[in-house]
Amino acid sequence: MEWLSRRQFLAGVGLASLAPALPRSSWAADRVSGVSLLRFEKLVASYPDLLAKIEDATLVWKDGTRMPLDDGVKGKSFEQMLRNASLADQLRQTYKRGKPAQNPGIDESPGRIRHEGFFTRMYGDCKKAEVTKRMRNVRWMPKTKSQVIQVSTVNDVAGRLERVIAELDGMPDRFKAFLVPSAGTYNCRVVVDTGKPSMHASGAAIDVSTAKSDYWVWARGKGTGAIPYRNKIPFEIVEAFEKENFVWGGKWYHYDTMHFEYRPEMFEV
Ligand SMILES: [Zn+2]
Repeated sequence: MEWLSRRQFLAGVGLASLAPALPRSSWAADRVSGVSLLRFEKLVASYPDLLAKIEDATLVWKDGTRMPLDDGVKGKSFEQMLRNASLADQLRQTYKRGKPAQNPGIDESPGRIRHEGFFTRMYGDCKKAEVTKRMRNVRWMPKTKSQVIQVSTVNDVAGRLERVIAELDGMPDRFKAFLVPSAGTYNCRVVVDTGKPSMHASGAAIDVSTAKSDYWVWARGKGTGAIPYRNKIPFEIVEAFEKENFVWGGKWYHYDTMHFEYRPEMFEV
């Protein structure tokens, strides 16, 4: 999922609770735009096939591409970051491994903010048919109810997902109803209100079964107040994905409990 309108809920929701008084556009010894240099180093280490180093507040790719860590835009709201994220914005939140002690706070959605150019450079532009060329078939739940899905080979996402599948397929039968059929992987669509691609457009995300999933859009009801959190996905399933550095949409304020995407840079340093 992750492509329906969320304008109503994001309107008026600022970033104040997340990142107060950030020093911006400054190359300090240990921070860029308020984000620890350790997070940027983690970013480089997370994608060793493609990224080379951080140098002068710039991400340097192995092919020579250079991307500034900060875009110099001050005081962005959460919605503005969803639409136009810098690399620093992408790393402002941290995804915590393990069973959540509480429901996500407002706009606590580690992984939802993505620098578009970064992922287009990495996985290709789906509108130019660059993403599909780098995908291969993967068998989803072959011992349960085999289904062919397409997954990116970049960063060996396909191989990593196959290791997740091996664990999921070996779980007791009571878990299977949450998993089959998969609601899909690759989809060259953008999020309606932001116009930005989700990780499905990179072939690096998967939705498990919709049957027992919860999505904030389905639960929002009539009001525009806080979104009631819902989830039925057993944590054992989430854990299998987290072992291979997929983040779970069930840990987002705008939750999407069927959704997993490969985002190793989002995990704690
Ligand atoms: Zn999804």
